[in-house]
Amino acid sequence: MSQEERHEERFVFLAGDLALDLVNTVLVDGGALVDTVATPEGLADWVAASPLDGAPSAIPPAVHARTLAMRQAVRAGVDAVVEGGPVPDTTIATLNAVLATGPGAALTRGPDGALRYGLRADLDADPAVLPWLLADAGARLFAGDRLDRLRRCANHDTCVLIFLDTSRNRARRWCSMEVCGNRSKVAAHEARRRRSSAE
Ligand SMILES: [Zn+2]
Repeated sequence: MSQEERHEERFVFLAGDLALDLVNTVLVDGGALVDTVATPEGLADWVAASPLDGAPSAIPPAVHARTLAMRQAVRAGVDAVVEGGPVPDTTIATLNAVLATGPGAALTRGPDGALRYGLRADLDADPAVLPWLLADAGARLFAGDRLDRLRRCANHDTCVLIFLDTSRNRARRWCSMEVCGNRSKVAAHEARRRRSSAE
């Protein structure tokens, strides 16, 4: 297995939302809670594997710390929302503090000579824009119209992952059918088997 494949396997991108994918960097693996981006190197690997443009070769420790603080704020917001409450003021304040560091916008000339107008957010050249990009995703999530689709994986006992249920009939229960969906089926099967052998 190549180094790159190992990196990809450490992370899950199943939430349907970048801010939630960031929250899902804390997951249960082998029965223990694991932070897959606990180091700046781990975060750089996550960015490279993520849908974000760019793959910074190194993430400065201060940017790493700001990103983890942001993740905690989004997690608190998610937990409040799935419990039926409002997004906490502390979450909004943390997002706003990061959003205030906005990268600004710029006109750039592309290789074909055509002008493009957009964010001046080049992750490769300036990894410091990472927390802003993620805070932007979190703010759009909390202020957007998909918030009522926020779900926790139904496998509460051994999974902490969250996602947006974008299925048409709003019936998605598991982070992943392959992992928790199957695990639940196997557990139900085991319970039935134990019951019938006890009779
Ligand atoms: Zn799950």
